[in-house]
Amino acid sequence: MGIVLRNITAVIDGATVVKTINLRIDGKRISTISEDPLPINPGEAVIEGEGKLAIPGLVNAHSHLPMVLFRGLADDLPLRTWLEDHIWPVERELSPKEVYWASLLGLAEMIRAGTTMCADMYFYTNEVGRAVEEVGLRAVLSYGVVAPELDAHGKAELKKAEAVITRWEGAGDGRIKTALSPHAVYTCGEKVWKAAIELAQKYEVILHTHLAETREEVEQCRAQRGLSPVATLDRFGALSIPVLAAHCVHVDKDDIHLLAEREVSVVHCPKSNAKLGSGIAPIAAMQKAGVMVALGTDGAAANNSLDMIEEMRMAALLQKVSSEDPTVLSAREVALMATQAGAKALRTGAQGLAVGQDADIVLVDLDCVRTLPIYDPLSALVYAAHSQDITDVMVAGRFLLRDRELVTIDEEKVKQEVKRLSKRYTN
Ligand SMILES: [Zn+2]
Repeated sequence: MGIVLRNITAVIDGATVVKTINLRIDGKRISTISEDPLPINPGEAVIEGEGKLAIPGLVNAHSHLPMVLFRGLADDLPLRTWLEDHIWPVERELSPKEVYWASLLGLAEMIRAGTTMCADMYFYTNEVGRAVEEVGLRAVLSYGVVAPELDAHGKAELKKAEAVITRWEGAGDGRIKTALSPHAVYTCGEKVWKAAIELAQKYEVILHTHLAETREEVEQCRAQRGLSPVATLDRFGALSIPVLAAHCVHVDKDDIHLLAEREVSVVHCPKSNAKLGSGIAPIAAMQKAGVMVALGTDGAAANNSLDMIEEMRMAALLQKVSSEDPTVLSAREVALMATQAGAKALRTGAQGLAVGQDADIVLVDLDCVRTLPIYDPLSALVYAAHSQDITDVMVAGRFLLRDRELVTIDEEKVKQEVKRLSKRYTN
């Protein structure tokens, strides 16, 4: 049965041109986009688009879904203290069951905020995968390898990472892809990195890692190796294959040049970087140098949400603050980062609203007091809208949110389970 979006304002043609159009979805794909009215076939569902904006699904290019369980558990701390004294100790206690239910909560939050695809790195990845498969989102899943040496532990970590690829690549009717994730330069040694690169090449998957997140990481790396984290990864050979590099907050001119030359996809996580006091990544400078930059939330324990609308707004505003230039990172540019750039970086998913593309579509109600009047729908989306204004979310032609109701998740059950499971972390 087809679906027709009638008279809807839509972001088309590379996520920047906004027009009032009629759009038909047949099966998984967009079959027609027309400025003229479309005939309605028997049995077709019609959605009246007046007052709404249709955008390509938002891509959260760096997340740790299960960390919603630790949202608000430890705030207002620097990264190292937060990670080593608070997050890693509770993560050691985590059970697969907790990861599954927390993933469902995270997915519910993502869908309600218009995300149709994420690149998620964590452990107990089978549980994350099970949740993603059931819910119907797109995802690039990976196991986060933490191993200073290629010893028995290091080899076991890589085996787990490889098992994720063999189990999940192409699952969920092709919606699930995989990546290989050495956690960072400071948590994985050179031999581990080199073995990971070989595995990524063997399975033709991308590397997904954290890079140059804090000043401390860069100083420590320079002291130990005489190179920046970006240059270190290049020396390991990692930048010769496709890399998704979260953060890149502390990068100098040479690093930026290298990131552009090696076509590394940087994932900007402005809210997490702000909350952990890590700094503001020089996104405008990176984009000027030709670096592709996508957008991500990072984990909800460091954000504290998985809301890509907020992330877009934060990205645009912080870049204007740090460069003291209001012309940098316009609403259009930041919308592109959250959609098309994300899909390109993840090397999968729909590349915008166009005929033949998979129907990954989000409808936003802009007919409300916080957004009216509408002179520029993208301005309304980035600078004024809230995720609560999202009414419908579709992945490959299937509704995951319809009229503000989650279709594939029993929201009340998930909330109850997470509340119950979180009790043991309350001290
Ligand atoms: Zn992260």
